[in-house]
Amino acid sequence: MRLSKMLIKTLREAPNDAVLPSHILLLRTGMIRRLASGIYGYMHMGYRSIRKIEQIVREEMDAIGGQEILMSAVQPAELWQESGRWFDYGPELWRLKDRKDADFCLGPTHEEVFTDIMKTDVTSHKQLPMSLYQIQTKYRDEVRPRFGLMRGREFIMKDAYSFDLDEEGLDKSYNDMFGAYEKVFTRCGLDFRPVEADNGAIGGSGSHEFTALSEYGESEIAYCTSCDMAATVESAACSDDPASDEEMKELEKVHTPGTKTIEAVAEYLGLDKKQTIKALLFQTYDEQGQIDKYVAAFVRGDRDCNMIKLVNALGIPEHAIEFADEDKMGEATGCVGGFTGPMGLHDCTIVVDSELVGMKNLCAGACDVDHHYINMNYGRDYEGDIVADIKILAEGDRCPVCGAPVKHTRGIEVGQVFKLGTKYSDSMGAYYKDENQKENLIVMGCYGIGISRTMQAVVEQHHDDKGIIWPISVAPYHVIITIVKIAEEEQVKAAEDIYEKLRKAGIEVLLDDRKERPGVKFNDADLLGIPIRITVGRDITDGKVEYKMRRDEESSLLSVEDAIDTAIKTVNEEK
Ligand SMILES: [Zn+2]
Repeated sequence: MRLSKMLIKTLREAPNDAVLPSHILLLRTGMIRRLASGIYGYMHMGYRSIRKIEQIVREEMDAIGGQEILMSAVQPAELWQESGRWFDYGPELWRLKDRKDADFCLGPTHEEVFTDIMKTDVTSHKQLPMSLYQIQTKYRDEVRPRFGLMRGREFIMKDAYSFDLDEEGLDKSYNDMFGAYEKVFTRCGLDFRPVEADNGAIGGSGSHEFTALSEYGESEIAYCTSCDMAATVESAACSDDPASDEEMKELEKVHTPGTKTIEAVAEYLGLDKKQTIKALLFQTYDEQGQIDKYVAAFVRGDRDCNMIKLVNALGIPEHAIEFADEDKMGEATGCVGGFTGPMGLHDCTIVVDSELVGMKNLCAGACDVDHHYINMNYGRDYEGDIVADIKILAEGDRCPVCGAPVKHTRGIEVGQVFKLGTKYSDSMGAYYKDENQKENLIVMGCYGIGISRTMQAVVEQHHDDKGIIWPISVAPYHVIITIVKIAEEEQVKAAEDIYEKLRKAGIEVLLDDRKERPGVKFNDADLLGIPIRITVGRDITDGKVEYKMRRDEESSLLSVEDAIDTAIKTVNEEK
């Protein structure tokens, strides 16, 4: 491809709304193009990189027996109503109506569609196991689309679904997929880590997130400094502090004027925050959007409430809960903003963090303005409707597996694997007949890779202040040939010759034959991040060209033949 013919517009300055280095670089190189908030198109170079990633994914899916198909992005509402997710998925599901007023959505994922295929096309145990996948554009109507392709409203995804006879089969499919994902992300040049994850709105029994490590990533990961425990913070189990063997003291109501926060009351009473109980007040909604019930959640004063664990404990979707209007909730339940404790509440669901059960003589709000109780004890003074681990595993906490201190880091979620079990086959009625003609539910798994997000994650991990540094495996082109002076016939002729020879050898080459100053061409080559640059300049009179890898500081002067051979060898080794 000749750069003089390519539709390309590089920008010197970063667009205002872009903050992430990868987002800035993809826009500055003109590889992606913003059409609306969270909606991007891919220009020639960007799309080539996307297709490389897709091809890697395809090869690894095929290698474990996946069958590629392509379903419609538009899905009828009936399927989502059957599975119960028309409500559960919430406002992120992009809904639309046709001219006959029938409901549809633009698929954010395809569990319903694939389960429906199984339901109608699979009857016998002889047809299983099976795994199907597709690479397709997906939609999610994000509240705040941001960071370019990281959190877009339209994105390219590979979604795969496995169908097995039983749990044992699912374990094998899950492990196969896990291994394939490790190969995919390694081939894409990512520094990644698989971590335990929450099942979220998808449902099911087990899940891992594949996370590309990055300080700008939106996934927060907790990992152990000693063992291999690693999990998203939202799903990481916590180990409760050991139960206290103190004697229970007499419950006492004390005057604590103006102490509306844990910090204030702890200071006023001279207590450690660990001796207090923190209250969080919520209201939940039903399918009609009406307030369903009030929820008071309690964790130890030094802990933070984990919303994902809380909604899982309540068995409701994430979008169906929000902080309560304290005045209205007060009228209905007796809570008092800043002075709420588990005693004195009525008509609300009380969720108590499991750790509080073993703690003794704690301080909590008295549901009375300017008053707290001290020496409050679980079982004697209050109880929970639900007792569960609803706290965040914070930095410095003990690892739930080995007890060593936990650290946090950030990453970009590029893939996730789920064990769905029979959640969808059960709700939608997908059965197979076994040897004895008995009907059994198909056991499912689902597996996603964000293709467009992976591209941005690669840029996030591979760039410097001059631009992108593509790994050869996913680079839009392998080699760029820069002609220093387009007016010098000898340079042009040599460059054309190298261009032809490399192309014949199957190398993807860009020829920078633009009438630009050499400085502009070098800057563009660095910005675009093409892995190998061959510069044809003055030294061509001695038969020499400059050969430089984008990732290296040093360049070398090689004969034309050596430059061609080295480029072919390097590309074939790394592509
Ligand atoms: Zn550990």
